[in-house]
Amino acid sequence: MLLRVDDLMPIGEFSQRSGLSARRLRNYAAVGLLVPAAIDPASGYRFYAAGQIQAAQLIDALRNAGVPLTEVAAVLRQPSRERLDVWVRHVQADADRRHEALDLARSLLADVGSPARTNTQLKGKTMHLMTSARTDIGRVRENNEDALLCLHHVVAVADGMGGHPGGQLASSLAVAILEAAFTGRSGDELEAAMRAANRAIFERAKEDGQLEGMGTTLCALGPIDGAQLAIANVGDSRAYLVRDGVLTQLTEDHSVAADLVRQGKLTRAQAAHHPQRGWLTRAVGVGQNFEVDTFLQPVHAGDRVVVCSDGLFNEVEEEQIMSVMSTARDRDEAADALVRQALANGGHDNVTIVIADVGA
Ligand code: MG
Repeated sequence: MLLRVDDLMPIGEFSQRSGLSARRLRNYAAVGLLVPAAIDPASGYRFYAAGQIQAAQLIDALRNAGVPLTEVAAVLRQPSRERLDVWVRHVQADADRRHEALDLARSLLADVGSPARTNTQLKGKTMHLMTSARTDIGRVRENNEDALLCLHHVVAVADGMGGHPGGQLASSLAVAILEAAFTGRSGDELEAAMRAANRAIFERAKEDGQLEGMGTTLCALGPIDGAQLAIANVGDSRAYLVRDGVLTQLTEDHSVAADLVRQGKLTRAQAAHHPQRGWLTRAVGVGQNFEVDTFLQPVHAGDRVVVCSDGLFNEVEEEQIMSVMSTARDRDEAADALVRQALANGGHDNVTIVIADVGA
């Protein structure tokens, strides 16, 4: 952008016209959000263009709302009301959670002097996931289009599709929106977060011809109380439960091959090698109509869940997954060993795995 010096104003005047203090403007410049249009190399004096006033006010409004710097930068790069809607929901959910915590604190204060509550009474507030995660580009692909989320209250794996750069963008957008929109409130909230991800990816693809057809799988889960996980799935990434040394697939794949298994036309073993096993019948972000499997899974402390992309289970048979996990000393070692095994068996695809142990 070519600017005439006459169009520029010094920081003091810009501060007055934008309503932001010079200190704030310097802070936003320091983190790269609002770079001055020109700086006098001799005096170091900063100049801004009139066209930057709106951006300055937008940045300030978002910061006042508590939106993190990285997200503010993302909104500036790709202005979208959808992103703001996600934050409105996030702020609301956060406020609700804090109210609940304060209610609990109030009732605990009322109980001071009486016998302590048992862990069972409080366990609805205390269950969390202890996690290890790995992702690897594999031995054949040129990009890693898988993305993962690995937090105490939610884990997820997304496997992007649509080629470069769409696949990578779709999967990373999916996990970012899930993180912003799911707070561990309920299965409905998890489903709403998946729908928000679907809308955001679909709208983004419409804006840019290069991104046409992008989409992603998304398999996510998080504890919603002391005894249950909410699980949501679209596509062919998977969630497994490991209990008492037995690996059980919790989610259903949404693929042509999986449909043929459900119709009794293929066995599971045949499906694992079927040429159309990677053809998805559902994906996040490819259309406005969106179907998601959401359900609750009872769990208890000691259970383990594994969420992974098809780059793992297409290379490593389920029996082998279980045997690798049972010989590993801990989660980290198990995650490393599973990725190593997928690479050793061919590494034809990106491989991503999140292992989460349910803790009280
Ligand atoms: Mg894959």
